[in-house]
Amino acid sequence: MYDYDLLVVGSANADLVIGVERRPGAGETVLGSDLAVHPGGKGANQAVAAARLGARTALLARVGDDEHGRLLLDSLRAAGADTVGVLVGGAPTGVALITVDPSGDNSIVVSPGANGRLAPADVRAAASLFHASRVVSTQLEIPLETVVEVVRSLAPDSRFVLNPSPPRPLPSEVLAACDPLIVNEHEAKVILGDSAGVSDEPEDWARLLLAKGPRSVVVTLGGEGALVASSAGVTRVPSVKVEAVDTTGAGDAFTAALAWRLGTGEPLDEAAAYAARVGAATVTKEGAQVSFPTAAEVAEL
Ligand code: ADP
Repeated sequence: MYDYDLLVVGSANADLVIGVERRPGAGETVLGSDLAVHPGGKGANQAVAAARLGARTALLARVGDDEHGRLLLDSLRAAGADTVGVLVGGAPTGVALITVDPSGDNSIVVSPGANGRLAPADVRAAASLFHASRVVSTQLEIPLETVVEVVRSLAPDSRFVLNPSPPRPLPSEVLAACDPLIVNEHEAKVILGDSAGVSDEPEDWARLLLAKGPRSVVVTLGGEGALVASSAGVTRVPSVKVEAVDTTGAGDAFTAALAWRLGTGEPLDEAAAYAARVGAATVTKEGAQVSFPTAAEVAEL
């Protein structure tokens, strides 16, 4: 019997957003809009997305003993996620400094802060959370050695889901544990390295990624839906047609939903189809965590 459907191990950031007419050059100052501060980071986003759908969710993360850390904890609790695994202190909460220009393009500087201090020892100390969780998901906004320790800490019958973002080459030990590895186009190309040059077809990336060791692979394709690849072959998951307003957080909501549905025993293609509905619902609203849907909102779509 598991206490949690999903344990997310990952980052928690405060997103500090300022609108600008244009970006400053070196040595230059420009005036921007009022500051907006939002809870973010891929780990916290996934935990909030899963909890809002109704999954029993815990987050293992590290935040600073500061206002941004409290903002993140409040957002997690409001969504219904368990924050017992959120460690406090060691460095300031991670921050993403985001400027948005009139065309909607972002420039982002990330200070990992406390995320960079989430250590393998923190994972070992959370062994009881791992044993209580059916599915464990993570991303790459925490140190890679911590992700390796997550893989080594999985309970024998639990399932591991990885969204390698921001992407970097992965050790075979991590790749072999993924079921699935979830990538967008950019992440697929970085993980594949030189071999991506062979084709522009996402079906080929899915097959090449699968050959690197994961038990299954999901390639997300934005408004085009997704692809699912396993030893059974490659299948396409249709997208849900919606009016896209803001795609921030779509990948995080997709991953959280997929991980949760796999934990309920759903086959990968059905879990991916549900996740595509969750991703579509997310892009119909502005923002990241505030745009994640409830299960009732997904059903209405
Ligand atoms: P990421 O945010 O990681 O780049 P994607 O943009 O591929 O990920 O989005 C993740 C999923 O969210 C997609 O596979 C799709 O199911 C859904 N999604 C994203 N953008 C749209 C859109 N414009 N219309 C419908 N669904 C979308």
